[in-house]
Formats: sequence, C-alpha cells, structure tokens
Amino acid sequence: MQSSQYTEYQSDSTEKPEFSSQSDSITTAWDYLVSQEQLEKEAKLLMPYDPKKCSYEMGEIRQQLYACLTCYKSKNEIENDQLSEANKQKIEYNAICYSCSIQCHSGHELVELFTKRDFQCDCGTTRFPNGSECNLRKSNNDIPSSSNIYNHNFQGLFCHCDSIYDPQVETGNMIQCRLGDVCNEDWYHDYCLVTEAKPTKDYKDQLKDFPSLNDFDGFICWKCINNNKDFFELIKSDNKIVHRVMERKKINRVKDSVKQEGQGSGKKGDDGDDEGDHQFKKRKLQQDFSIFLNPNYQENFKASIAARPSSTIISNFFKNFPFLLTDDPIYEPENDDDNESIVDLGTRAINTLPREQAVQGVEAFNDIKDKLKLFLTPFAENDKVVNKEDIETFFKKLKEKRT
Ligand SMILES: [Zn+2]
Ligand SMILES: [Zn+2]
Ligand SMILES: [Zn+2]
Ligand SMILES: [Zn+2]
Ligand SMILES: [Zn+2]
Repeated sequence: MQSSQYTEYQSDSTEKPEFSSQSDSITTAWDYLVSQEQLEKEAKLLMPYDPKKCSYEMGEIRQQLYACLTCYKSKNEIENDQLSEANKQKIEYNAICYSCSIQCHSGHELVELFTKRDFQCDCGTTRFPNGSECNLRKSNNDIPSSSNIYNHNFQGLFCHCDSIYDPQVETGNMIQCRLGDVCNEDWYHDYCLVTEAKPTKDYKDQLKDFPSLNDFDGFICWKCINNNKDFFELIKSDNKIVHRVMERKKINRVKDSVKQEGQGSGKKGDDGDDEGDHQFKKRKLQQDFSIFLNPNYQENFKASIAARPSSTIISNFFKNFPFLLTDDPIYEPENDDDNESIVDLGTRAINTLPREQAVQGVEAFNDIKDKLKLFLTPFAENDKVVNKEDIETFFKKLKEKRT
C-alpha cells in the first residue's frame, strides 16, 4: 500500500525513454511500437484514470484514497510536540482523492488506503498546512468534511498489530473489514485473524483453514462483531450468509486482561481475572471470531430479514448498517482512455523531439503526432526498419516547414 512505486513512476514519466540511445540506434517500427505498448500498459496499471477533477464537490463517497504523510507531518509536527498525550486527538489526519494524489501531492510520501466509505477529499481544506493549495480546485481554505472518520491507516499503520504495510516485505494477504463499525474499515493480516501470537516462520500452517480469496465476498473483523454480538451470534451459523467463521486464539489470558485497547464495547465484562469456572466459561463464550461472507450475501441478508420480520436485533442492525444490503459502489474518476493507436503512443516516447517543440503544449504535440503517425505507418505496415536518421529527417523537415 505504500505507494513509493507510484511516486517513482510520477517522476519518471516526464523523461522519455531514449530512442536514439538504443544499442544500435536501429529498430523496426514494429519492435518500437510493441515496447511503447508495454510502457503504456504499465502506466495504465498505475494510473488508470484521467486525473483532472478533484472529487471534493461530490461530498462523502466511497473512493480510492491516499493519505499524504508529508502534509500530515508538516501540519502536525509543531503542534504535536506541544501536545500532551491526552490531547493527541487534535492531530489532523488527511486523505486525498486519486486526482489530487497526482496533481497536488506528487513527490510527497503517500500511503495508498484503497477505498473507504463516505469519505470526502481533504485536499485544499484546512486539514492541510497553511499555503498548501489544491491545484485542481484552486483553493486552500475549504471547510473539511465533518463526517470523515480517521484511524491509524491515515498514519500509514494497518491491522490490529499496528504495523506499517511494506509491499516489498509482506508475503501474506491483507483483508479489509466490510462493516467498519469499530475498526473504520481497517485492513488485517490473515495471520492476525487467526491468533494474537506473533507470526512464526511456519505460520502458513495455522492458516490451513483460511478460505481462498476467491471463495468469499466480504469480511467482518472480530472487533466490529464484538460491538454487534447479538446480531452476529444470530447469523453465525447461517451458511447461506456466512462462508466461514474464523476464531482468534488467545495465547495468554493474563496478558490479555492487562491489555487494554479501548476497542469497542465488546470488551465490556471481559476484564475479569482467570479464577473460577464461571469466568472460564464466560471467556469461552466470548471467544473472538471474524466472519467471511458468502458471495451474494446481500441477497441472503435480505432473505433473513424477510424470514424474521419481528426480530428487533436484525432490524436494528440493518438500520445502523444499511450499506450491507447494497452494492456500495466505488466512485471512479473518468478513464484516461484517449483511444490512441499504438502508433500514437509510440510518438510520445521519441526522444528526438526538439526540446522547444516538446514544451509548446498539446497543440504542437498533436500536430507532430499526426504527422509522425503518417510517417511511421508505412514502416509498421511493411515491417520496415526505422533508424535514427529516418526520425531525424522527419523532425528536420517538420522544423523547416514551421520556420
Ligand atoms: Zn481531491
Ligand atoms: Zn501532500
Ligand atoms: Zn487537490
Ligand atoms: Zn497484523
Ligand atoms: Zn471491523
């Protein structure tokens, strides 16, 4: 989720691959265009959308988000030093939309958060340091959403174990909680769902009951379940809705009772000592569990509401979480789909483009592109070799015509 690759791509994208410095300065138009297609595919994977519109005006929506740690640090650094532990909630987190991550915070340290529900872009609001402007909306003082919810993800930390996600190091899967009542749609390591013990080298053995990622359609963490225990005890064994129940083993009950995390109200009554049968049974009953939801769980939730119309537990639950019955669509910016042919794309990377023309903007570029397309097409059609001189002649002629 750490988007170092993403920012790296950003800085590279202005440097065109060097056509003329290829080993022998010679290639077929076909080879050349195939390599361009590859570059284009990679770029599309990293930046599939056209980053021209900030989503702020759309209000609170489910969308792809990035936390800017650079801005977070500069906003809070001074205040942070002066704050007592008790006042730490004054720290202002932020998250920005896809377009702002490219247009307003490129070069900053960004953490990819994937998507969260009901979230408004913070770029250009007072959550950012003074003078930091949203380049797309040209504003720096907008009022931030009053309903955005922030958790440790916005600091770059994930899961119950509160760790930094490093895609280079991480080998297991991470799963996002769909309910988010307590955890605010946090992401969990697979092994942290199974046991609170630190993963050992052979932790994969402990995951043998873990469902395959293709077999379920949603996941709800034990913290959110503990906060809505009545409901989940009721549906826990409904195998139309629940794909699998995953219990989380506690390793040390003494340690457990000392550990106070303040996570949800499910911890209530769970703070006793370990003496006596009664306590032990109570603990057994309160075993933490997470659930994996079946594909089509929305339909099956609806069926279970219909089957038990008088259950206040069920009706109250869905009053609080109506989104579990819907598709919860993700806002996507417009696709960056300019339908250019491969030949068009190839022209982008030609390094022999005169510098002054390269900066003349889109009009000049399109003009050159059309002409270069005409020039390259016969080479491509006949699989004929294009060499450096051909390209230089082309630009020379173009330049002569312009002057
Ligand atoms: Zn934005
Ligand atoms: Zn930033
Ligand atoms: Zn912005
Ligand atoms: Zn974890
Ligand atoms: Zn949760």
